[in-house]
Amino acid sequence: MTDKRIWLGLAASLLAAPLAFADSAAPSKTDCSVAEFRMGLRFQQQSAEIQALQLQAYNIATEKLDKAVAAAKDPAKLAIVTDLDETVIDNSALLARDLANCHQYDAWDTWLPWERDGTPALIPGAKKFLEHADKLGVTIRYVSDRSDEQKKYTLATLSKLGLPQVSADSVLLLGPPKVERRAIVSADHQIVLLLGDTLHDFDARFRKTPLDAQRKTVAEEAGKWGTEWIVFPNAGYGTWSKAPLQGWDAETVIEPW
Ligand SMILES: [Mg+2]
Repeated sequence: MTDKRIWLGLAASLLAAPLAFADSAAPSKTDCSVAEFRMGLRFQQQSAEIQALQLQAYNIATEKLDKAVAAAKDPAKLAIVTDLDETVIDNSALLARDLANCHQYDAWDTWLPWERDGTPALIPGAKKFLEHADKLGVTIRYVSDRSDEQKKYTLATLSKLGLPQVSADSVLLLGPPKVERRAIVSADHQIVLLLGDTLHDFDARFRKTPLDAQRKTVAEEAGKWGTEWIVFPNAGYGTWSKAPLQGWDAETVIEPW
């Protein structure tokens, strides 16, 4: 080995030493798989298109509700059942903070502090629609998988946002599956609309079901979307998030135009 080679080897090992130290000191900086969510979360939080889709969903819900009330003998016997997160309230600030820290936000281990101390925003159109339903005398039930142990915090958050009919009885949190909580509502009401961003907000067939089966049921129930079932966009998280993308199998041809 020549002197030059020895010096090069020594220089390389000196350069490598601080890098190895940095890696072991801050492993989370090299593990940032949550970064994969960035574009979806950006679309969810920042795009005007999401805002338009949310307003569109609430416009459709208003039209359907008005028709149901006009046809009903007693509007108080009618109910709407709505999910909370990403349907009525926007939690993207929590997800954006966690993503910035490379913390895998869909592990949901930062969620409980957010329920207690977080300040979610309203989804555009939500409050206006719910106030409209309230004025029509329709019963509102909030069915959400937020923590029942922390219910007082969710009630406080909803009250602070000025949402109507918020009470311990009207907010049904995680315990039995949503299908069972909807059955509690339908025992003494006619549910005219379901609102949600996740498919199990609408039907138990979507719960813990592979994507292929979800798509099949979505297609079978094509007539319900926008009539009985009002679905909201959520590009921030969902059962789809790990699904592999399907690409065109042709060879790439690059051609300026
Ligand atoms: Mg939701």
